[in-house]
Amino acid sequence: MKIVDIRATTVTVPLEAALRHANGCHWGRFVRTIVEVETDTGLIGLGEMGGGGESAEAVFRSLKSYLVGHDPARMEEMRFLIANPTASLYNNRTQVLAALEFACLDIVGQAWGVPVHQILGGKLRDRVPFASYCFFRYGNRLTGAMEVRTADHVIAFARAAKERYGFSTHKMKAGVFPPEYELELYRALAHAFPKDKVRFDPNGVWSTEQAIRFGQGIEDLNNDYLEDPVYGLNGMRRTRGKVRTPLATNTVVVNFEQLAANVLDPAVDVILLDTTFWGGIRPCVKAAGVCETFQFGVAVHSSGELGIQLATMLHLGAVIPNLSFAADAHYHHLTDDIIEGGLMRYEGGAISVPNAPGLGVKLNRDKLREYQELYKKLGGYPYDQDPARPGWAPVLPNDRWADPNDDSYPAALG
Ligand SMILES: [Mg+2]
Repeated sequence: MKIVDIRATTVTVPLEAALRHANGCHWGRFVRTIVEVETDTGLIGLGEMGGGGESAEAVFRSLKSYLVGHDPARMEEMRFLIANPTASLYNNRTQVLAALEFACLDIVGQAWGVPVHQILGGKLRDRVPFASYCFFRYGNRLTGAMEVRTADHVIAFARAAKERYGFSTHKMKAGVFPPEYELELYRALAHAFPKDKVRFDPNGVWSTEQAIRFGQGIEDLNNDYLEDPVYGLNGMRRTRGKVRTPLATNTVVVNFEQLAANVLDPAVDVILLDTTFWGGIRPCVKAAGVCETFQFGVAVHSSGELGIQLATMLHLGAVIPNLSFAADAHYHHLTDDIIEGGLMRYEGGAISVPNAPGLGVKLNRDKLREYQELYKKLGGYPYDQDPARPGWAPVLPNDRWADPNDDSYPAALG
């Protein structure tokens, strides 16, 4: 079997509402690149990558000269072919490699007639549990989605999500408002769901001292972990020495070098594995093995996903024995998907692991075209800008917080 073509299509799919985060905002939609790898046997494997546009599509096109004629089953060879670590100063292709690895696994699974989880060692669970992933957000007049800014808003969002999807873990994505405001809000969220687990992620924007203050202020809650309270292994290590709540990261341990540093001198307790950031599903399985050996926790991270990426997260979540936390997904914030059957369904806070050959998802070509057209119409958006504060840049540690009393709707969102 040989690769004969690689195609990339940029799409944008609407979210219920614009999601605010410490560095800016998802402006009411996700932009993703959908990758199709075709073989001489007629099989098509699917991949997905965050972001998109001309440059992303050109990167995938340019890799045809490397990969046409390559056997998609030889994924480890593909890693050295396009993302050799010693060449990474010149061509940083980890996320591109990830999308191509997804597609190759999809092809091999279809060729062998087995789901990807079977290639990866076999599933240990049929369903992967997810967290509610609460964001601060601007309201949306078109979808009727309410604004989320106050503790009452967050609790109402989490309650509605729990009723609709069955979540029993609530993640608060924060780092938007002053830390003392967010501390009170998080405590209110935890107290509103005393039987549920909670977790908090300010995306690393605090000082180490602020991280310690916050960490000590939540120790009595039912925390899974405190995620990236400060940026950098040293800040995390100092925080960890003074806080009893486990610390988690998806930012400062995202490769094997950093994982080794964390094993030798621990700074983080729980490693959040992202199938894109780590360069594929297989590196995440390897990293989970290292974490199992050294008894660090692992969970499945979400960097924003449509159904193809979600499938990679489900196959990963199915095969790693040490998945002791609910996974994160932005998925329930989406209004639609580009896969056949539409949005995958949550049941009891979990999503079933696909069992059809390969990744187990197929493209809905009408939807692909629809959201490709929407991307052509709308273009990209500045992920690291807040539509309410043009020109704003958070410093590190940050002190340029949004105003929790400001309930205005940013005109830039249209
Ligand atoms: Mg995070």
